[in-house]
Amino acid sequence: MDECIFCKIVNGEVPVNKIYENDNFISFPDANQVVEGHSLVIPKKHFETTLELPSTLGVELLDCIKKTAMKLMEEYKAEGFNIVNNNFEVAGQVVKHAHYHILPRKKGDKVKPLY
Ligand code: 5GP
Ligand code: ZN
Repeated sequence: MDECIFCKIVNGEVPVNKIYENDNFISFPDANQVVEGHSLVIPKKHFETTLELPSTLGVELLDCIKKTAMKLMEEYKAEGFNIVNNNFEVAGQVVKHAHYHILPRKKGDKVKPLY
């Protein structure tokens, strides 16, 4: 996984402003913000998609998603948020290290609904 950008973020080779972390997950701002505060939750170990992520990590994943979303909602005065997880290229996954987009939402923002 030498060339994986998210593995480089986890091991400190690429610096990020960490929002939250627990034993197995960290969160940080997305480099290309779709909306103010757009951030990513990733596992510290390399798993390609949610299918590879062990189900036993589910509690910690949800912990990282919730803590991150709450911090972002407070910081950006958002009234809600979306969790987006693209799996495999056909579904829009570009970085092949599982990740969960957190999009803080405000009335009138420019995010188009997926469905
Ligand atoms: P995907 O389309 O794979 O679901 O989304 C990958 C996300 O990773 C994109 O939103 C992209 O902006 C973000 N990203 C790619 N490289 C980097 C990086 O080096 N740093 C950060 N913070 N985000 C990145
Ligand atoms: Zn990786």
